[in-house]
Amino acid sequence: KEVISKNFIERIIDKDLEEGTYTKVATRFPPEPNGYLHIGHAKSILLNYGLAKKYNGTFNLRFDDTNPTKEKTEFVDSIIKDVEWLGAHYDGEVKFASDYFPQMYEAAIKLIKKGKAYVCDLTADQIKEYRGTLTEPGKNSPYRDRSVEENLDLFERMKNGEFEDGSKVLRAKIDMASPNINMRDPIIYRIARMTHHNTGDQWCIYPMYDFAHPIEDAIEHITHSICTLEFEDHRPLYDWVVQELEYPEPPKQIEFAKLYLTNVVTGKRYIKRLVDQGIVDGWDDPRLVTIAALRRRGFTPESLKNFMDLVGVAKSNSSVDYAMLEYCIRDDLKPKAPRVMAVLDPIKLVIDNYPEGQVEYLDAQVNMENPELGTKQVPFCRELWIDRDDFMEEPPKKYFRLFPGNEVRLMNAYFVKCVSYEKDANGNVTVVHCTYDPITKNGTGFTGRKVKGTIHWVPVPFAKKVTARLYENLVDEEKGVYNEDGSMNLNPNSLTVVENCYIEPSIEDAKPGDSFQFVRNGYFCVDTKDSAEDHLVFNRIVSLKSSFKL
Ligand code: ATP
Ligand code: MG
Ligand code: MG
Repeated sequence: KEVISKNFIERIIDKDLEEGTYTKVATRFPPEPNGYLHIGHAKSILLNYGLAKKYNGTFNLRFDDTNPTKEKTEFVDSIIKDVEWLGAHYDGEVKFASDYFPQMYEAAIKLIKKGKAYVCDLTADQIKEYRGTLTEPGKNSPYRDRSVEENLDLFERMKNGEFEDGSKVLRAKIDMASPNINMRDPIIYRIARMTHHNTGDQWCIYPMYDFAHPIEDAIEHITHSICTLEFEDHRPLYDWVVQELEYPEPPKQIEFAKLYLTNVVTGKRYIKRLVDQGIVDGWDDPRLVTIAALRRRGFTPESLKNFMDLVGVAKSNSSVDYAMLEYCIRDDLKPKAPRVMAVLDPIKLVIDNYPEGQVEYLDAQVNMENPELGTKQVPFCRELWIDRDDFMEEPPKKYFRLFPGNEVRLMNAYFVKCVSYEKDANGNVTVVHCTYDPITKNGTGFTGRKVKGTIHWVPVPFAKKVTARLYENLVDEEKGVYNEDGSMNLNPNSLTVVENCYIEPSIEDAKPGDSFQFVRNGYFCVDTKDSAEDHLVFNRIVSLKSSFKL
């Protein structure tokens, strides 16, 4: 599974190092603290961190908090937690772009002094109108030729709070006829009286993203500033900023395609709506694909890393099948997760010829595909829970489990043969009666006869009762996620809660966040939020069936 070929970013870096453009590699992940991170961000984190690691470079975590409107400390904390959980070790302290406001202000003054920026009094509407269109060049602002002295004076007074919000902006003086609209004298500073989560009311002017971001990168000596495709036509502006500010080893921007998953809700706006309307249980509801939700559902950092490696780094947008992510978590948990016998829809099995009150302890492997996890002992007795599906009164062809007269193996135990069954008033089977054959005990090497089915079981007096939650896609796969009017097609069956689930007693030591394979059923993780000391709640991470093959 080793990926041998290099992705296009690695090829750019190789060339840069070879040609001496840079002597080291420095990357960063620059989230805006305006929400919870999702799987797309995980891609960016692991990509940037992975490159730093591969090239023996550095990786910064920097909050791009230059826009004070939507930012919250709650999001800062959750983002740090997610980055650390993914195993992306950032170098040094967590950085905040807002700590660089003084340098950004100085940078603006430098541009003004070079005659490369001016204070403009046009209204927002006028600026838009003057900017022109794709087919039509823009017109120069009447304020474009203000003197350096006048610009320095006005800009300082903007900073000092002498002007109303929105009455003036600072613009880069580039080219109103550029075919790239981003280069038509973009706004680089605006007046806005907003309290910032980090700098409070210290500033009433704030830098625009396209100006701030290259400066942040340059201050941190970032070499390769990796972002997503929608910034491609902002790159000339990025280059203009670092060039005009004369940074000695200017960073370079590289764009890659965003990660999209089919049939999941990734848009922050949409996730927020599901949370606000109570359709999901918060930002970490296990049906979501925020990093917090994936963690709660039972995905591991390793599975996400493998997933990102499989997906690769692309230069054009495409969607990845959710089944591929499921493949990666199965693959990761297969050797790691202890296997336990759990019955989600119990009916009783009574072994009529097994002495009442007798208990024996049977040897079982913790994980038959990984002997390193050792063995355990499972109590066995006369009354067991089995899954309703494992018995049929009138079996169809090729049904090899229990039915009257048929013999099966009880996993890790004995052959049992169905002799009769009981039903309640509604016609539902309640008890299956069997007899067992002592010479068929597991591990004795018995070969006298064969059975075609093996079923799992849980001893009634030792069973631990838990809740299991089964998930389906949050959205209706047939109809697609979003409608034209912005509404979503939700799947009404995305959550099934199973209250009477019985598990073998070895589950007793399970802690929140631990994962297990419930044999023949799927991988389950102990929920970190809803589990109590005396009552565990399990989330099904993924079933054992796979629709994806590598
Ligand atoms: P959203 O629109 O979902 O909020 P965003 O791009 O606004 O995403 P930021 O906090 O600005 O979120 O992003 C931090 C970094 O994560 C950016 O470099 C951004 O390009 C990257 N990123 C965001 N979404 C994806 C995605 N789907 N795939 C890969 N990288 C992404
Ligand atoms: Mg953004
Ligand atoms: Mg965003």
